[in-house]
Amino acid sequence: MDYGIKTWGNDNFFIEDGKVKVNTGCEPSLIEIVEEIRKDGSIRGPILLRFPHLIQKQIRMIYKSFTDAKKEYNYDGNFSAVYPLKVNQFPNFVKNLVNLGKKYNYGLEAGSKAELMLAMAFNNPNAPITVNGFKDNEMISLGFIASEMGHNITLTIEGLNELESIIEIAKNRFGSVPNIGLRIRLHSSGVGIWAKSGGINSKFGLTSTELLEAVTMLKDAKLLDKFTMIHFHIGSQITDIAPLKKALREAGNIYAELSKMGATSLRAINLGGGLAIEYSQHTKTLHKNYTLNEYANDVVYLLKDIATQKKVKVPDIFIESGRFVAASHAVLVAPVLELFSQEYTDQKLRLKDKNPPLVQELYDLYKTINKKNASEFLHDSIDHMESLLTLFDLGYIDLQDRSNTEILVNLLIKKAVGLLSDKKSTEVLDIQERVQERYLVNFSLFQSLPDFWGIDQTFPVMPLDRLDEVPTRSASLWDITCDSDGEIEFNTESPLFLHDVDVEKRDYFLGFFLVGAYQEVLGMKHNLFTHPTEATVIIDNDDFEITNVLESQSVVDILEDLDYDIKEVQETLTSKIEDSDLIDDKAKKHILGEIYLFLNDNGYLKTIKSERDK
Ligand SMILES: *Cc1c(COP(=O)(O)O)cnc(C)c1O
Repeated sequence: MDYGIKTWGNDNFFIEDGKVKVNTGCEPSLIEIVEEIRKDGSIRGPILLRFPHLIQKQIRMIYKSFTDAKKEYNYDGNFSAVYPLKVNQFPNFVKNLVNLGKKYNYGLEAGSKAELMLAMAFNNPNAPITVNGFKDNEMISLGFIASEMGHNITLTIEGLNELESIIEIAKNRFGSVPNIGLRIRLHSSGVGIWAKSGGINSKFGLTSTELLEAVTMLKDAKLLDKFTMIHFHIGSQITDIAPLKKALREAGNIYAELSKMGATSLRAINLGGGLAIEYSQHTKTLHKNYTLNEYANDVVYLLKDIATQKKVKVPDIFIESGRFVAASHAVLVAPVLELFSQEYTDQKLRLKDKNPPLVQELYDLYKTINKKNASEFLHDSIDHMESLLTLFDLGYIDLQDRSNTEILVNLLIKKAVGLLSDKKSTEVLDIQERVQERYLVNFSLFQSLPDFWGIDQTFPVMPLDRLDEVPTRSASLWDITCDSDGEIEFNTESPLFLHDVDVEKRDYFLGFFLVGAYQEVLGMKHNLFTHPTEATVIIDNDDFEITNVLESQSVVDILEDLDYDIKEVQETLTSKIEDSDLIDDKAKKHILGEIYLFLNDNGYLKTIKSERDK
């Protein structure tokens, strides 16, 4: 079982000796990286691993694909790319990205004042900055400041009012005006759940009438020479290349028309983002139908074709892909805390001398189940269980009988699933759906995979070791929030099987892959679980190094973020403990010490194993 690593893994990881390994340099396994971080015992919750070499790989791939495509089609426009900060603004990602992008002149895209200030602080000198999104006068002034600082910045306007503001502000500034881009409203629509990012009903962009008006306004204000770019963005995770091609045809023709109308400085088309990531673990349910090379070739070919037909100079190409660059660099590793059926063992069975007939029958099924009758016996046992539970409700059997029922059915399921594991029929899958094992995992789905909760986005998940053992349990994953939505259910379309492990004896870690785009900053503090501990892993040919370990926020910091006066919290707790009549002074001192420790630790759970080891 390789958990579809060849489908979603992009050769970034491989399986060897039963472990997932990183496919670079000395090829460390993820489990040894995690063990290294957990070595001193203080870090026990989920860990987000960042791999800078995977950021570098994506950036390199983008530039290489477009360089190759330009060569192939003899395209003499330039290619530029910027990274949209909204996809992941965390410093240990952004600073690495800027650094790794330097030799490509890779720039940044900002959609808010905070992001723009980040871009102004960290962007490589001379690399482009683009600004999208709704802007007030302050944000436009910030754009002017960036230009006055010497940044190569383009403000893309979303509406004519923004253009009016730019024209006004230009009169009162110091002479250096940012480049101006116009976001165009395409009649071809956007894609998927992000359809409102593009298309005629889009939230963004200028209609063709407004475009004509904008050119007149720029001409009158003597700023037409600052109009350098048209921009569109049809949505994120473009799964099908066809709508993009349609949008490109439309944008290419708008570019050519505006050029002919005298927009002589207009030289670039910015295609926005949208390059998709393959998140699927199953070849039946692929999430995209094209490769990066195909995308680059289509863009270059189409734009050249239009420019030739309309007899204008080919445009420079700009892209703003974010998901494609960021997704693969981060892996969330979370320990399994518990398997819900773990308490069901042979030893706990307390059969009576005389059991109710159905319990006795369950026991006989359990003793005689084999490969041939497994499916039938499993059905029978589940029927028996339902009858027995009804008998309990009606008062005909006692709690001990009920306990024996639960144990026997769970033991039967385990046996049956093992016996049936080499069959892959839909019937077996249906049974497995009914008898799924619930794995309690030490992470918050709301914090670490918010898109699973919000838009049903799935992420590849697999155990980090034991990959040479056949996983027999159909798994549903439960996070540690008190919210029933915090669950990744087993489903027969894309089934997940995990190992039958005893986590009290040995750790079992799950890796959630491709979580580097959008998840971190969209993460919610539900139940006050915050961003997990993170670490950056640098791998070379001899060794790997763990840097920038940032522990998950302590309870004190979390409460402070919510604007609690932490002194008040601490003092109230202290005086309540001191005033208690139930305990003596020695106990009070001890308890105060415990409270202090807990307040300064993070809120994730300590695994049972680590507790016992103490
Ligand atoms: C969100 C966004 C992007 C990035 O989209 P991805 O799907 O992450 O590549 C690029 N440009 C604009 C204008 C955006 O709003």
